[in-house]
Amino acid sequence: MDSKQKRLAQLPQVDRLMQHAFLAELGNKFPRGIITDVIRKELASCRNQLLTDTTYVFKLEPFLEKIKTSVQEIFKPKLQRAINAAGIILHTNMGRAPLSLTARQALQEVAENYCNLEIDMDSGKRGNRHQLVEALLCYLTGAEGALVVNNNAAATLLILNTMSFSKESIISRGELITIGDSFRLPEIMRHSGTRMVEVGTTNQTVIADYSEKINSETALLIKVHTSNYKITGFTAEASLKELVELGQKFNIPVLHDVGSGALIDLSRYGLPKEPVIRESIETGADLVCFSGDKLIGGPQAGIIVGKKAFIQKLKKNQLTRALRAGKLTYAALEATLRLFLDEQTLLQKHSVMNLLTRSQTSLEQQGKEIIQALKDCPVDIELQEGLSEVGGGSLATESLPTKMITLNFALLSAEQLAQKLRENQPPIISRIQNNRVCLDLRTIRHDEGKFIIEALKKITG
Ligand SMILES: *Cc1c(COP(=O)(O)O)cnc(C)c1O
Repeated sequence: MDSKQKRLAQLPQVDRLMQHAFLAELGNKFPRGIITDVIRKELASCRNQLLTDTTYVFKLEPFLEKIKTSVQEIFKPKLQRAINAAGIILHTNMGRAPLSLTARQALQEVAENYCNLEIDMDSGKRGNRHQLVEALLCYLTGAEGALVVNNNAAATLLILNTMSFSKESIISRGELITIGDSFRLPEIMRHSGTRMVEVGTTNQTVIADYSEKINSETALLIKVHTSNYKITGFTAEASLKELVELGQKFNIPVLHDVGSGALIDLSRYGLPKEPVIRESIETGADLVCFSGDKLIGGPQAGIIVGKKAFIQKLKKNQLTRALRAGKLTYAALEATLRLFLDEQTLLQKHSVMNLLTRSQTSLEQQGKEIIQALKDCPVDIELQEGLSEVGGGSLATESLPTKMITLNFALLSAEQLAQKLRENQPPIISRIQNNRVCLDLRTIRHDEGKFIIEALKKITG
């Protein structure tokens, strides 16, 4: 036996390993086939080590531990609930809008049973999913027609492709937005097959900039709500009204991407104003698109409302099939939209509206309860004023006064404490300010206080 073979002979065989008491016990909890697959993979990597590193020695105990953690990792759900203590109501990285109760109930009903997704209930023949929420959306926005797709990026892509393929679409340089790290409007325009015609400058665009570029190739005028930034100072933009008038003069349709899209005027509740979809329709926009999971507070979806003829055209585009929403989306969206029919109960029943309008007293009360429960913990804890963000590219530069619990723990830095909170089950996502970990009470549901209390007791105990 040469030395290489001798070294490889240290490695145990799979069958022998499986008889080891430690793995036998693991086999009671997890499928044996998965365990042997993991063992084979780990042994292969040990073999490699043995061949390339002459100082390497195989040790059984750490090897067995490694097998256990690898197997556990396979069965650990990757998508799991988390507690939003970051105070960003529509946190894109945390799944945006939490669904309201009626939406969750509708979701369950449709998830566990068959449904009438595409059955016309009168004739019993093939129906059309696009009609499921169309009437409701028309009622809520004043539009003639509506269509739901996968998300607002898909809505934009579909509109550009349908209305302006191989033609020109005019847009202001001040409105060429990037949302998150993957939605860049110029890229979406390129993929849609339209030719983008930029007008104006970053901070100054007037209606004449658009009219100068209109020619026989122009098929669409676009206005985009700059939802996650604000240009201030020496600025000018063409209003939707001006664009609509220009469009009517030259018979060119106008698209308004409002991003978040409020169904009601938020300023009525003392919140900063966000574009109201009905107002865009009344002003004369031919198509308006927005997300389902921002201020609407529903599931991920892209919603398009507008003139009947254009909605018809969108529905006929083959791309619509590729971008369509599934039954779960329709279930949750329909129930969420229905909440807007009754403004009396909206604030109480609609989760996002509820979070937006939580009172300072309720936030303070919740904070005091948590702090009281932690009074014996060796951690410096305070109830402080702070600011919540709406997030999701809504009310970009506005923030809402809130109350937050702030923490300083002598044995850990703020970053380390925040990390420990993230490692909790369920994970708690906080933010750091002035070297203290801040837990914004606005986005912490009442029944989630107990998780925060338990986690902090464990970490500091
Ligand atoms: C958020 C946003 C989008 C992207 O919407 P998704 O639903 O995330 O695809 C597009 N345009 C504007 C103005 C937005 O605010």
